[in-house]
Amino acid sequence: MKILVTGGAGYIGSITVERLIKAGAEVVVLDNLFQGHRDAVHPDATFVQGDLADRALVEKLMADHKPDGIMHFASYTLVGESMERPFLYLRDNITNGLNLIESAVKQGVRGFILSSTANLFDEPEQIPIAETERIVPGSPYGESKFILERYLYWMDRLYDMRYTCLRYFNACGATEERGEDHDPETHLIPLVLQVALGQREKITIFGDDYDTPDGTCIRDYIHVVDLAEAHILAMRALLDGGHSRKYNLGNGRGFSVKEVVETARAVTGHPIPAEIGPRRPGDPATLIASSETINHDLGWRPIYPDLRTIIEMAWNWHQANPQGYEK
Ligand code: UDP
Repeated sequence: MKILVTGGAGYIGSITVERLIKAGAEVVVLDNLFQGHRDAVHPDATFVQGDLADRALVEKLMADHKPDGIMHFASYTLVGESMERPFLYLRDNITNGLNLIESAVKQGVRGFILSSTANLFDEPEQIPIAETERIVPGSPYGESKFILERYLYWMDRLYDMRYTCLRYFNACGATEERGEDHDPETHLIPLVLQVALGQREKITIFGDDYDTPDGTCIRDYIHVVDLAEAHILAMRALLDGGHSRKYNLGNGRGFSVKEVVETARAVTGHPIPAEIGPRRPGDPATLIASSETINHDLGWRPIYPDLRTIIEMAWNWHQANPQGYEK
């Protein structure tokens, strides 16, 4: 199969490319390198530097390469940033995604995977969160993904383009060669590991008065390789003639901020000083997704659900690449 991966130089995209190539796929990566890293792109992938806002480039890319399927990762992805810069999300994420969807339809692409978000479920009535939960986007970021999900619904109905949306929370972990390198870094696990590397003095825990066993927020940390495999399984199912689907993906259980810090102390052998700070606005106490449906339909389940393994793999990558990628 020939797959176009947008955002294939980013964290989850680049590791999905690595796994696609390992699985024997031919891969074309489109990335503008605003947030991605050229060095993260697997050497066997064809790399095109460009922006989804450039419709002529997207059309040419599609016509030149004629992919069987598209995996769409390229996106602004931060919930908090989207509350402060809504237009970046409500305009750029949406119009860029629409440019891609339109040329995918024109090209007759057979499978489209949208890397979506579990930030669609801001007021879940039940945890773990199932696909039947009411959609209430939690931010302009979540809204932008929801609108793309809706566009895909119409493309299926009008043009028979099959798609799968994958919604998940906290991607984490690494492979031997690829890991997490954001600038600025805002995510808990890489921040904690930066303390262990001596690059930060301490970690601030955003609130310890939540209604959880240890008072800190519980999140669904899901290994990036497990996410990559879910994208590949979903693509295969579409290319084999499967119907359009929306799946939530989760680790199966959640971990608290304190558990993450304690596990990182055990893995790194560093004391990782932590202080309790105020709550971060918009943080719910517990977020865990249910993967029952994708497990039932496609047989997907996480290979790396254990927090210690996740942090060990991330730590190995951070130790080998203390400054992240070179470029
Ligand atoms: N968190 C924290 N200190 C930090 C960064 C994050 O306590 O410096 C907490 C945050 O409040 C949340 C969890 O860690 O409960 C995961 O946050 P992250 O930003 O990694 O991902 P999010 O859950 O926002 O997608």
